[in-house]
Amino acid sequence: ILFCCWGVISGAEYVKYKDPNKPLNVRIKDLLKRMTLAEKVGQMTQIERTNATSEVINKYFIGSVLSGGGSVPSLQASAETWVNMVNEIQKGAMSTRLGIPIIYGIDAVHGHNNVYKATVFPHNVGLGATRDPALVKKIGAATALEVRATGLPYVFAPCIAVCRDPRWGRCYESYSDDPKIVQAMTEIIPGLQGDIPVNSRKGVPFVAGKNNVAACAKHYVGDGGTHNGINENNTIINQHGLLSIHMPPYYSAIIKGVSTVMVSFSSWNGIKMHANHYLVTDFLKNKLHFRGFVISDWQGIDKITSPPYSNYSYAIQAGVHAGIDMVMVPYNYTEFFDDLTVQVKKGIIPMSRIDDAVTRILRVKFTLGLFEKPYADLSLVDELGKQEHRELAREAVRKSLVLLKNGKPSEAPMLPLSKKAKKILVVGSHADNLGYQCGGWTIEWQGFSGNNRTAGTTILDAVKSTVHETTKVIYSENPDVNFVKKTGASYAIVAVGEPPYAESFGDSMKLTVSDPGPKTIKNVCSIVKCVVIVISGRPVVIEPYLDIMDALVAAWLPGTEGQGIADVLFGDYTFSGKLSRTWFKTVDQLPMNVGDPHYDPLFPFGYGLTTEPVKQN
Ligand code: BGC
Repeated sequence: ILFCCWGVISGAEYVKYKDPNKPLNVRIKDLLKRMTLAEKVGQMTQIERTNATSEVINKYFIGSVLSGGGSVPSLQASAETWVNMVNEIQKGAMSTRLGIPIIYGIDAVHGHNNVYKATVFPHNVGLGATRDPALVKKIGAATALEVRATGLPYVFAPCIAVCRDPRWGRCYESYSDDPKIVQAMTEIIPGLQGDIPVNSRKGVPFVAGKNNVAACAKHYVGDGGTHNGINENNTIINQHGLLSIHMPPYYSAIIKGVSTVMVSFSSWNGIKMHANHYLVTDFLKNKLHFRGFVISDWQGIDKITSPPYSNYSYAIQAGVHAGIDMVMVPYNYTEFFDDLTVQVKKGIIPMSRIDDAVTRILRVKFTLGLFEKPYADLSLVDELGKQEHRELAREAVRKSLVLLKNGKPSEAPMLPLSKKAKKILVVGSHADNLGYQCGGWTIEWQGFSGNNRTAGTTILDAVKSTVHETTKVIYSENPDVNFVKKTGASYAIVAVGEPPYAESFGDSMKLTVSDPGPKTIKNVCSIVKCVVIVISGRPVVIEPYLDIMDALVAAWLPGTEGQGIADVLFGDYTFSGKLSRTWFKTVDQLPMNVGDPHYDPLFPFGYGLTTEPVKQN
């Protein structure tokens, strides 16, 4: 009974910070006062997985590691492989003098999307269309379980950007162009982290337990309002606009106990967010009482200067002074470490600023229970991609579909489709392409093409498994007119849209359906009754083809469970999704949002038809 487990080093000395019975603040203070400057600066440093050797961790006292983009231990790494890899890195951290565990983060932005065979949920733009925060909360909980299955405690999600211009390459990461919908969807945070206890103090980070993960609200703030939708660009808006359009989701996130906030690459009225002391420190930390840690974006402080990294010392000073607590992938972490240390020693950056940063980081680590249980075990490995989660994703797909047209004028509605037609056509670049269906941030940073990179159901698979056994399903990726004529089907399902992309690679001034999509629509819809399914991260130019199609469905980026599309197309469920964004006619109208004087959309915000359910065997 003398020496049990907690708070004891080498069976003798009692160490307060290791004692879980001590209050959080006592533990943090005790640990902080034992730390050297080098150990503190190390806590503020997050490096990429591939650099996180035991030597580096021990030399620089690294506080955090990430898998950025699609950084995985191996192509088809199993949950066990992940857990072992994470534990190996953690071993390095636990062997440092004070044994401060590492916090490992990953971009699980629509499910645990980097990981082979994980459930991939619809991207946020689709979830916005569901108008179902309770469902989104469940998705958060399922994602947390799958992330924990691989030994990780931290996700860089949710993106709570309010995308005001679909030309932005990250528009699909945004739930809506309406701040209220984005606010409602912050329910994903208690899904990921667990429900915050009643009466907890505002702004205090909270993670319920071993089935939950720390979340990260990103990208603070105004990322969705940049000029012409250009990624990482300047958001030109007055303070009232910033506070009423882009800030509200952060109010909700903070009330719900979000653990961390990531700063945006973008600028506000010309000032880089990474150097904005007013918004990061005065507003977020002091006014909103946010007590978790603020993390930079990837090499975000390096980009404070232009060109990036041209005056690194200044960038470090400006970023840390602004209030950034953890620096994600400093361009050169050894230089960052040395330079920041010197600046503190010279008094350029006050020790109080460093202590604030480290206090916040330790608060999240203690809250996560990392000190008590630094190593992951294999108890959750079966959570990864499990059937129940796939069912949840399928439900989300069903609810995210927005029916934009159903039948030509004076004709009967085309949907729901008959399961017993003799012959049907399934066509288009997106009909049998799981990678396209999932979009960016899936397996690879930029997403993938084809069907063999992870497990899931394409639209074609889904249609085949839904129709009657006597129904012939004919597939063609890119049919010409003769093929369509020759096939003489009862109707066609045409799936077209955008190829996958992420971040700046997705910026587009044209927003067209990618080739040969428009031609496919024309070839097919001019001959046979057709429903067009658009797989895209945002509204795209569709008006020129609208008249020739019989029905039109926006399916966004639905993820791995394509079955949800067939569920609704064939009437097992009704269409219920509503546009969470305005659908424009031409790109010249952009940006165009509700309330604009020249609001003249193809389909207004909130639009979405419904269908009657039908029973078909
Ligand atoms: C993105 C972030 C992401 C980070 C880590 C950055 O390029 O802007 O959203 O969390 O990379 O992968």
